[in-house]
Amino acid sequence: MANPEINEIVESLKDDIQRHVALTLGSDPFPPRKGRYYLGLCYSVRDRLLGQWIETQRSYYDSITKRVYYMSLEFLPGRFLMNYIQALGLEEVCREAVRDFGLDLDELLEEEWNPGLGNGGLGRLASCYMDSMATCKIPGYGYGILYDYGIFYQTIVNGYQHEGCDNWLRQDSPWVLRRGHFMFRINFYGRSEAYEDSAGHERFRWVDTESVMAMACDIMVPGHQNGHVTNMRLWKAISTRDFELEHFNRGDYIGAVQAKVESENISKVLYPNDTSPRGKELRLRQQYFFVAATFQDILRRFRKNNYSSFDCFPDQVAVQLNDTHPAISIAELMRILVDEEALTWESAWSICQKTFSYTNHTVLPEALETWSVELIGRMLPRHLQIIFEINHRFLDDVGKRFPGRVDLLRSLSLVAEGDGKQVRMAHLAIVGSHTVNGVAELHSQILKTRLFKDFNALYPGKFTNVTNGITPRRWLMQANPSLAELITSVIGDEWIHDLSHLSELAAHADDPEFQQRWQEVRKRNKKLLARYVLRKLGVGINPATLFDMHIKRIHEYKRQILNVLHVITLYNRIRSESLEHHVPRTVFFAGKAAPGYFQAKLIIKLINSVAQAVNGDSAVGNDLRVVFLPNYCVSQAEKLIPAADLSEQISTAGMEASGTGNMKFALNGALTIGTLDGANIEIREVVGEDNFFLFGHTESDVHRLHSGGYDPVQIYESNIELKKALDMISTGFFSPEAPDLFRPIVDSLLAHGDYYLVLADYAKYVAEQGNVSKCYEDRPLWTRMSILNTANMGKFSSDRSIMEYARNIWNVSPLA
Ligand SMILES: *Cc1c(COP(=O)(O)O)cnc(C)c1O
Repeated sequence: MANPEINEIVESLKDDIQRHVALTLGSDPFPPRKGRYYLGLCYSVRDRLLGQWIETQRSYYDSITKRVYYMSLEFLPGRFLMNYIQALGLEEVCREAVRDFGLDLDELLEEEWNPGLGNGGLGRLASCYMDSMATCKIPGYGYGILYDYGIFYQTIVNGYQHEGCDNWLRQDSPWVLRRGHFMFRINFYGRSEAYEDSAGHERFRWVDTESVMAMACDIMVPGHQNGHVTNMRLWKAISTRDFELEHFNRGDYIGAVQAKVESENISKVLYPNDTSPRGKELRLRQQYFFVAATFQDILRRFRKNNYSSFDCFPDQVAVQLNDTHPAISIAELMRILVDEEALTWESAWSICQKTFSYTNHTVLPEALETWSVELIGRMLPRHLQIIFEINHRFLDDVGKRFPGRVDLLRSLSLVAEGDGKQVRMAHLAIVGSHTVNGVAELHSQILKTRLFKDFNALYPGKFTNVTNGITPRRWLMQANPSLAELITSVIGDEWIHDLSHLSELAAHADDPEFQQRWQEVRKRNKKLLARYVLRKLGVGINPATLFDMHIKRIHEYKRQILNVLHVITLYNRIRSESLEHHVPRTVFFAGKAAPGYFQAKLIIKLINSVAQAVNGDSAVGNDLRVVFLPNYCVSQAEKLIPAADLSEQISTAGMEASGTGNMKFALNGALTIGTLDGANIEIREVVGEDNFFLFGHTESDVHRLHSGGYDPVQIYESNIELKKALDMISTGFFSPEAPDLFRPIVDSLLAHGDYYLVLADYAKYVAEQGNVSKCYEDRPLWTRMSILNTANMGKFSSDRSIMEYARNIWNVSPLA
């Protein structure tokens, strides 16, 4: 590097790295070793951000501005190091510095463990939103839990998913700043006690509680080269000293230690379901622990500004509930305002409704969270009273407006009757919020017209839409440096903070020279991935084949099985030589199944069994390969997506709320084969119907078929290729050692009604896949379509989503 100024920056970074290796880690800096120098680099980069972070936090206080609290029990940030380096604009400097030590930056980056503090889409969305809040300078914080064990580590053993512990903090993370002096007491259990205050009013207090402490742990989230650093505050459970007194007095030292350790279990492990885990006491404890700690922090900040009254609370605080997981917040804020601050119920309720907004993420009935009245009553007795009071007043109001409508009261009630009463957390979130949003147009429409139809009639205007987005920093700039560089060379780099600039690429879609460069980038990415697959799985794949990817959580509604049926169909056509000309494909699957989800785990086994049969069949050769990549996570997505030709977004219409994987692919120039579901619809709208492979029944078709008359067996009987594929699965072609192994999968399709309508969409899907192959053979056509996908994805930046939340829901503006 010739520039003397840059040389100085490189030298000073090198000094810092070695100083940290010696003085922070206590290691000999010579000879330079990868693991140590990785950490040395982390600390050096962290140093450079900390000043900006302090500056940003101070600017919030100085401007006494309204802040947003984004509450989420899940975050999936992915690796931090490159994110920090690029936010600081230090990539070249870092490359040069570590190169001088004989190390390679890309190899150092691989040393970082993924913080798996989320299950999938919902957690990843929260992290994209943190990135955009920082880049758009929206004053706010992310709040969550610092789980010791994140989402399980998936390995595949003999084709089956095995779950391993993800002890991501085994080696201290350089990114987690523990605030040991910063703790709040969190209470549980006990009872609610009525008393009369000095004015003679009946009041309540929560007594005889057990407690645990919540310790703040902070992670910095930098904006892109704007000097703004947002804070993500994650709570860790630490035992109180109460146990010591209690047990030590009885001379029970071991008992004391044991009780302490047990109380710290609250933040031990992330629940691995991608829908909500039912009735698990520890999960409810996590939710309340998180909520109570966060609200003490919010109130601490609010009080710091010496407000004379709580009436201005909603002018200072906006709380976004990411799904219903933090919905107990509504009862907690009521408890604080009524019991502790002595506000009237009416004013407290008005403050609540002005403070909260709620994002719904699912319409699958089995995924809507409920908690038994018995459990809430035992763990949070005062909160249950408050929920009952909210419900009582709410139903009173409904009863007055719609006299005699008992059916309506039953459908709207926060408490579902039946054996074992349940609190419906979504209903609590809806009545306690000023705004409820779905995450894509179709999904928001379904909320209004089906799932929460009666609420929508009751509260016109409360329901709205904010279509999800993804951060272009991680999902293009960082994940796909070659494509990012090509784009920047043609249209400049403004797209990084204003993604709508990508539209300038459209003018080049037919330019042969640009097409050529586009193709070269894609080929390079595919080669890199092929090398990764060879290293990880020992499977050789050909980068010249069509890379077809289905990577996401394994769930029946996402219909991996439909894709498998297509693979088997192709396999049969190849074997029977009935393909006129075949376009060779490599079909990638990746994704975790919830450990208790039998059917999803069996689908993983089936994919691996089909892969074994196909890849081992010499008659198939290069024409078809199937790979299942274990342990799907953000870092793996970053490797896979830039190499994809085809993105599989084939959920049953109406069931995928939005999807964000679909956006990542299209942004990186993959074409989508998809149903009219979630954000697919909006993606197709912007990229153009000619540049999207559409198939399948629509949401209203699905609704109609579910209402009666759908006969999957008749479809099976009348489609020869489908019948053959299903028969192979059910008679043990892919599991000769256990012919009945996959019976439950075929049974769900034929004997149990095929709820996800796999058979109903099979023929159209296979036909559209034929269309995909045909287009792929026309290189200029495919390349044009690919360019136009990227060019038109500007709408799906999470910056756009965040600005919509800020304007329409939070009523906050970016800091200057
Ligand atoms: C984007 C992403 C998801 C969500 O993918 P969908 O296809 O929208 O379900 C899940 N997990 C990871 C690691 C992701 O990066």
